Amino acid sequence: MKLNYREFFMQKMLIMFKPEDIDISAKDFISTYASYMEDVGIVGKGPDGYALYPSRTAPVREEHIAFFEEWVRLTDALGIHGVVGVDLYTDGWFARDPKYQTMNDKGVKMEHQICPNRKEFWQYGAEIVKEIGSYPINEILLFGTGFIRDHFCFCERCRKEFAPLVDQEPDRLTYQFITENPEHHEKWHQWRSDKIHEGLGYLQEAATESDDTTGREQPLKLSVEVLLDPETGLSEGAKNEYGYDYARIGEITKNVLINLYPWSPVLPTKGSSEYDNLVESLYFVNEFTRRGGRASLFRWGVTTVEQLQELKALGKDVGIDRIVTTFHYPSDYSRRRESAIGNY
Ligand SMILES: [Zn+2]
Repeated sequence: MKLNYREFFMQKMLIMFKPEDIDISAKDFISTYASYMEDVGIVGKGPDGYALYPSRTAPVREEHIAFFEEWVRLTDALGIHGVVGVDLYTDGWFARDPKYQTMNDKGVKMEHQICPNRKEFWQYGAEIVKEIGSYPINEILLFGTGFIRDHFCFCERCRKEFAPLVDQEPDRLTYQFITENPEHHEKWHQWRSDKIHEGLGYLQEAATESDDTTGREQPLKLSVEVLLDPETGLSEGAKNEYGYDYARIGEITKNVLINLYPWSPVLPTKGSSEYDNLVESLYFVNEFTRRGGRASLFRWGVTTVEQLQELKALGKDVGIDRIVTTFHYPSDYSRRRESAIGNY
């Protein structure tokens, strides 16, 4: 597929690239399009868990190091807002170790996703934020920051920690047991949400530390991806399904990246009741920005200017002027989609 990049850049949007998207050198690409770019993004650690820079923490895709380093050096030199993407709990390499895989109450393990209740993984993520933050960049987009669904996580550690809160034996803790009692269910939501935001706190600390080390003028921003899909109850449902608390994200990192309809191929059309529901579910953004936060709209796999204009029109209706896209879906998209909207 041959894309007219200039046409996209002229729409004033942030595009997140993978080196594979580009068939020329970073230098040739950036110098060709620099005059159209206000900001641009590159993957730093993808869902396969591999880093594109010489990480001392994560495994490395050696073949992309030169591209990555030249890219961030040039965007900085040319005064372009530099953004790097990082997949957090969606980490195929780390999840090779079954000990870290998240699982449901039937013991079905997810081979692509880490249990968010892992302090050692927060430290791992924090190291990666520090490493990427040592480059002259302005922002990190954090993808995959929540639980897979409300039915997670029932790994040994989560059972052991949560079961006593509802007077149950760890081995006998089931999703049904939790959901049968509204108080238990509410505790479950709160407990999971605490884990997500405690983890984010580690990453924000790491970002701040990298500001001190590099003497960066403006603080390194961490934009936290939140999924917003009709299958999981739009913004309200997402709190309980994935563990997000928008107000807390606002306090911790101040930046949220709203991944619209990640599990659906099309967005609702303006004028439909579904569109109105979507707009309504984005009302939380008003409060988020009033408290000093910044929200961006995000969508995977935007390959036409029409799709982009559709996003911008929605942004206008909900008071969000920043649009972030990728040309591709994540490499593990089908597995992610299946685990997010599957039946448990
Ligand atoms: Zn767990």
